[in-house]
Amino acid sequence: MAQGGRPTIVGVATGTPDGGVAVVRLSGTEARAIAEVLCGRLPEPRVLARRGLRLADGVEDALVVSMPGPKSFTGEDVVEFHVHAGAQNVRSVLTAVLARGAVAAEAGEFSRRAFEHGRLGLEQVEGLAALIAAQTDAAVEQARRLLAGELGRAVQVQIAAIHALRCEVEAGLDFPEDVSPAELLRWGVELAQLAGGLEAWLGRFEAGKRSRERTRIVLAGPPNAGKSSLFNALLGRERAIVSPLPGTTRDYVEAELRIAGWEVVLVDTAGLRVAESAVEDVGIARSREQMGGADLLIWIEAADAAAAEAPGGEVLKVENKRDLGSWRPAWVGASATELGVAKVREAIGRWIADRTLHPWIGLARHRDRVGDCVAALREASELAALNGAPELIAFQLGLAERRLAEVSGQASLGPVGEDVLASIFSRFCIGK
Ligand code: GDP
Repeated sequence: MAQGGRPTIVGVATGTPDGGVAVVRLSGTEARAIAEVLCGRLPEPRVLARRGLRLADGVEDALVVSMPGPKSFTGEDVVEFHVHAGAQNVRSVLTAVLARGAVAAEAGEFSRRAFEHGRLGLEQVEGLAALIAAQTDAAVEQARRLLAGELGRAVQVQIAAIHALRCEVEAGLDFPEDVSPAELLRWGVELAQLAGGLEAWLGRFEAGKRSRERTRIVLAGPPNAGKSSLFNALLGRERAIVSPLPGTTRDYVEAELRIAGWEVVLVDTAGLRVAESAVEDVGIARSREQMGGADLLIWIEAADAAAAEAPGGEVLKVENKRDLGSWRPAWVGASATELGVAKVREAIGRWIADRTLHPWIGLARHRDRVGDCVAALREASELAALNGAPELIAFQLGLAERRLAEVSGQASLGPVGEDVLASIFSRFCIGK
């Protein structure tokens, strides 16, 4: 039944777990015709209306909406049936649609058609996948922004700037003798500025990544400093075993919670001291392992204990048991069992905020392409500074432009490899 090339596809667009309604989506030139065979006259475009679907095993009471191309998700004619969920019922609807000539959609095929018809940039498709996979509030926020095209628009601005400079350089190709040293110098500076701007994006990449993931906070320090008490106080309930005997937290305990609005994983470790038993030895080895994997290491010592050897590097130092005195005025103060841990919460919040504000909303693939673009711009900039041939400068600029265009997969500036597309779209389930 397919006319003009590609078949009309059908898939279940609703995700799991199943709710009361399942959405069966058709896309392609035959979508409307197939739907009309099943439900009679289609409602007005983009208006949801009740229709009976004539199936092999009876009539399904459905809501039907038609979204004619090109202003649809895929850019093709799309029809959706909102039917009663339930595997058997949905299968019966799919069977009826397939019997009228549609073919079953592959994983990510709807999104792929949307990309191929220019409805979504490649980075927006990735935003859609990220939104479906998002586990934290920050991840949802970044995925929404990516899906809305924020990165794509920022990339466009940069591409336009590189393009304008390339046109200038290429204009000089016919008359290289007219290109003055001053002009070369200016190109060199402008190229370095463009590269610098993009490098600033890359610098914010880690912040974006960090804010999409839960910050892993590990509590460490000598035994009896009050690590477990602090863990419990931050958690707000008795979770770790608190005991006055050193060495009770023999393994590590972890919990997911929100501190100062940030989603974190809090890890309580065994105290670090010379082990007196084999079990404790294992615990200490695990603690060191946990400390190595921390985003934020909180080193805790008790106010009434002698100074221990705090690890070097970036560590948030907390003096606990401040109710018993204070010997480390520069440290964050806490009193896990008496006066509270508000200052520790605050310090954690500040630490995360400092590292996650203004994140760049791109993913690893985008970072790599921007990195390639920066390398080409730097190369071009050096060529200009060394009085290099304009052809070579223009060549590097063209390369920079194409690498950046790959973020959104703009076909006009060179296609993205099939392997890249396959890896992006295969991450979706059927119906997306
Ligand atoms: P850990 O070995 O570092 O995990 O220490 P624990 O949390 O098991 O605490 C050791 C002992 O110190 C327990 O008896 C706690 O009740 C006590 N403790 C913990 N925090 C405080 C505090 O802020 N003030 C006082 N006075 N005692 C505390």
